[in-house]
Amino acid sequence: MDLIPSFSVDHTRIVPGIFESRVDIMDGAAITTYDVRLKRPNKEPAVAPAAMHTMEHVIATYLRNHPCWKDRLVYWGPMGCLTGFYIIIKGRIPASELYPVMLEAFRYMRDFEGEVPGATPENCGNYLMHDLPMAKWEAARYVEYLETADLNRIFEYPKAERLKLEPDMEFFDS
Ligand SMILES: [Zn+2]
Repeated sequence: MDLIPSFSVDHTRIVPGIFESRVDIMDGAAITTYDVRLKRPNKEPAVAPAAMHTMEHVIATYLRNHPCWKDRLVYWGPMGCLTGFYIIIKGRIPASELYPVMLEAFRYMRDFEGEVPGATPENCGNYLMHDLPMAKWEAARYVEYLETADLNRIFEYPKAERLKLEPDMEFFDS
């Protein structure tokens, strides 16, 4: 089987940011998946599962109620590796256009107080696995990162060395 596109990015060079991960055309319409990366893969600890789960609930609730984004949002959820989230939206826009709403969403998470939405046995498959203080801490860190990051660097995956295509080079040599 082929390596799927999101695995074929060189993860040793990813820094936190917001990246276009893949575009699918379904019934003639684009559906775009973005990588909202919070952590440098394999270089720093990933987010703890309970904090990730709480961020999933709070930010999903925020986005699903957002006046501009609720109708475009297909999905918001954590990556299995716990270093970021995927957001899937209808259409295709530059990743940089998600920057304002992601800042808003993670600020909302940072400042969130009260009961985690949907953290009940009726609404959640693991309602005891939540950690609001840690989710707020992770969100605060990411907000600070996004606010101070070099905006030329956080919307495109780093260029991968391995994309130099060896077979082509051989072709040109011969
Ligand atoms: Zn849940």
